[in-house]
Amino acid sequence: MKEIVPTSPPMVRNQFESIRELYSRHVLPTYARFDIAFTRGEGSHLWDVNGRRYLDLGGGIAVCALGHAHPELSATIAEQSGKLWHVSNLYYQEPQGRLAARLVSHLAPGRVFFCNSGAEANEGLFKLARRFGHEEGRFEILTAQHSFHGRTLAGIAATGQEKVKMGFEPATPGFRHIPFNDLKAAREALSPATVAILLEGIQGEGGITPATPEYLLGLRQLCDEHNLLLLMDAVQCGHFRSGRFQSFQRILENAEGAQGFLPDAVSMAKALGGGFPMGAFWVQEQHAGLLGPGSHGTTFGGAPLGASVALKIIEIIERDRLEDHIRNLGDWFKAELQKLIDAHPKCLTGVRGLGFMLGLELAGDIPAFAGRDGTPSIQMTNRLHAEGLLVIPSGARVIRFLPAFNLVRAQAEEGLSLLRKVVGSLG
Ligand SMILES: *Cc1c(COP(=O)(O)O)cnc(C)c1O
Repeated sequence: MKEIVPTSPPMVRNQFESIRELYSRHVLPTYARFDIAFTRGEGSHLWDVNGRRYLDLGGGIAVCALGHAHPELSATIAEQSGKLWHVSNLYYQEPQGRLAARLVSHLAPGRVFFCNSGAEANEGLFKLARRFGHEEGRFEILTAQHSFHGRTLAGIAATGQEKVKMGFEPATPGFRHIPFNDLKAAREALSPATVAILLEGIQGEGGITPATPEYLLGLRQLCDEHNLLLLMDAVQCGHFRSGRFQSFQRILENAEGAQGFLPDAVSMAKALGGGFPMGAFWVQEQHAGLLGPGSHGTTFGGAPLGASVALKIIEIIERDRLEDHIRNLGDWFKAELQKLIDAHPKCLTGVRGLGFMLGLELAGDIPAFAGRDGTPSIQMTNRLHAEGLLVIPSGARVIRFLPAFNLVRAQAEEGLSLLRKVVGSLG
């Protein structure tokens, strides 16, 4: 007679399921999350609850400037946390002042305001523009189609994508969208109420599209002619990601007539704090008086804990010459992606971007994806996850590479070989 052996209980409880259960019961379902839960990281690698290792080429969506658990940043935050975490912006403290000076030294004479996120940094730009046009009754800000400027009410009004606005009407007034990289359209869109033009130097959420040199220079001229502010959202493309401090510096470096090009204000966040929540905006010195005492404020912005980390990140980037590293390795990686495109023209249709902000465009009709759930970018991302590679989808047809600035060549090669394997399996 056959003996019936009861199945043994699992050796370990399924930690992923129990974490997911916490989310499904208690966290607002605003994200369609991937089925991975991470527990630790080191440099450009992450480990999930099952001990599985991933190569992280997404960098927490362009945030983890020096990767995960960087020992010098851990030491900095530990040291500062033993001294001073927070004082109100009613008082002075050294890290904020030094960080502001460092940002100014990389950009141009001007002033910095610190906040906690990209959306908040952009809010600062909107308020700056409203102040600038206030006496003349001008308030309208032109932004680009396919842009992304954050999830606050003004941020979604500024964002040139319908999907972020849906159901949140009425929209905050004073924003209109124009086609990106189309100077004529910008000129024709001006109205007597227009006060500013806001754009990303490289559109991130819109699919990694750099502005052309002609567009940037033309917008600067248009703004000068009509007394408009030229505002740049560098939340994703800034902070050395392009291989220069600002993407416009990289885009314009060989352009004729670009000497002295400067926007009136620049918003920053993401890589600024390397994972410590932090945002900022810089304004040209001539506009510093627009936001005087009492005009703007923040409880947490620029507090010593975050400011000391951000300062250390910049010091390391300078010391280790990571700007050059990003350019060289980024250019090489982009060329390798182009080779992959040439080998698989039916699956891959293009590569765009600069430095460590690259987008690989997928065909809309990859046969292996047909009849399955999810856009090509989501299906591709899932297949890469299965091989242990993290990338970030951008729109329906682009996957983004936004790695840590200290990614090394061997890791870039590891990423490429995983990508080749997955692309090769698509037939
Ligand atoms: C991520 C992002 C934002 C919003 O930043 P949050 O920190 O999420 O508020 C704004 N603009 C751009 C270009 C971004 O990529």
